[in-house]
Amino acid sequence: MDSKLLFYFAPLAMIVLWRIAARKRAQTKNLAVLQENQKAGLTEPASLHPVIDSVKCIGCASCASACPEGNVLGLIQGKAQLINPTHCIGHGACKEACPMDAISLVFGTEKRGIDIPNVRENFETNMPGIFIAGELGGMGLIRNAVEQGRQALEYICKVDGVGKSSGDCLDLVIVGAGPAGFAASLGATQNKLSFVTLEQETLGGTVSHFPRGKLVMTAPVQLPLVGKVRFTETTKEELLGFWQKVEKQTGVKIRYQERVEEITHDGDVYLVRTPKDTYRTRTVLLSIGRRGTPRKLGVPGEDQSKVVYRLIDPEQYQGRRVLVVGGGDSALEAAISIAEQPGAEVTLSYRSEAFSRAKEKNRRKVQQASTEGRLKVIFKSNVKQIREDSVQIDHDGELIELPNDAVIVSAGGVLPTPFLKQIGIEVETKYGTA
Ligand SMILES: Cc1cc2nc3c(=O)[nH]c(=O)nc-3n(C[C@H](O)[C@H](O)[C@H](O)COP(=O)(O)OP(=O)(O)OC[C@H]3O[C@@H](n4cnc5c(N)ncnc54)[C@H](O)[C@@H]3O)c2cc1C
Repeated sequence: MDSKLLFYFAPLAMIVLWRIAARKRAQTKNLAVLQENQKAGLTEPASLHPVIDSVKCIGCASCASACPEGNVLGLIQGKAQLINPTHCIGHGACKEACPMDAISLVFGTEKRGIDIPNVRENFETNMPGIFIAGELGGMGLIRNAVEQGRQALEYICKVDGVGKSSGDCLDLVIVGAGPAGFAASLGATQNKLSFVTLEQETLGGTVSHFPRGKLVMTAPVQLPLVGKVRFTETTKEELLGFWQKVEKQTGVKIRYQERVEEITHDGDVYLVRTPKDTYRTRTVLLSIGRRGTPRKLGVPGEDQSKVVYRLIDPEQYQGRRVLVVGGGDSALEAAISIAEQPGAEVTLSYRSEAFSRAKEKNRRKVQQASTEGRLKVIFKSNVKQIREDSVQIDHDGELIELPNDAVIVSAGGVLPTPFLKQIGIEVETKYGTA
């Protein structure tokens, strides 16, 4: 070969070979991630997610690069696949990025249906006066939830009698203070409705449970009483801080730590029942999201403030004696991160005899922390009672007592479908349909 040609050709060939090798390595890694998720049963996306037509897919990986969550899609054998299904939150950026139109966005999978309530264009359900906004209606993402909350409120204002309520009957009860419920609450304040917003936890909904410092991708939205909000890329803390500031400045009143347990019909009004009160109202807006309510243990002492259902900040447990309850990934991850805190004493209690539902990586880390004496695992155990400074546990038939300062229960959640059905709202199960 001509030496001049070789001079130019050799580096080019090296770059091509290097790219082929890197692509191969990435695909091997993607396959390992997918297999690990399959082994741990983490195969079902929570809501809207992409399905890739492998015939149309040319393996350009535009979809994987476009995903704001990263590492959700990946190439395997030259075709895009959902390698981390449970991390998909339905941004839909993959569909827009695909040059071959090979991606459709669907709800549910063949194996696991997703329940979506039937909601009309004005956000009203089959129950007159009961409206749904936000992720519960199937449409995830902060910007969609805010926009739906705002729009639903405008329709609610048009309902006969709303704005003219008197006596003990409210115009509106808003359930949930995530992005949808918060936007609707601002709208209700702006329209001077008589209303209450009931929230079982704190302001911000799912956003308040994002990991610390999580990058939040969103889009500018119109907030009632505030105007255009121009966030596009922010952090959990900045977004929550902004909402808290708006809450304070506008004086919008939200009743926190008040969970709605039942909604019944009484003539032409609804009765909304919580453990603290019963509210009579003309209309109801359900903006309760799809994450559900954390499953409780149902044991004496569980109502103490030291018992929580999600780990937000491991550092707060430095030097404390903590019991984590559960055997899934969130329980294992919570136990591992607290065990890394100086002076923390962590016990992980699980009712079965092995962590069969958790990822291999987490099981390994628990094993390591346990071997190093940073974490104590008690299989075949059930919490019986939570006292002020101890917990009582049934360990395979034997009652044991452990000194304790904090309890984190990671025992899954109760999804909203039974609640909707009990109200009389029609729900459709979607098995991979658009
Ligand atoms: C890990 C993760 C990362 C995400 N990242 C992004 C992102 O970067 N960008 C983005 O746009 N979206 C993101 N999302 C999605 C986004 O958080 C949701 O789509 C959005 O929060 C939905 O808002 P919502 O108001 O409909 O419901 P939620 O935010 O879920 O709020 C519902 C509220 O209702 C309350 N509630 C439920 N039941 C009751 C009851 N019975 N009584 C009283 N209150 C009740 C809940 O406590 C909660 O506060 C992410 C989601 C997850 C899980």
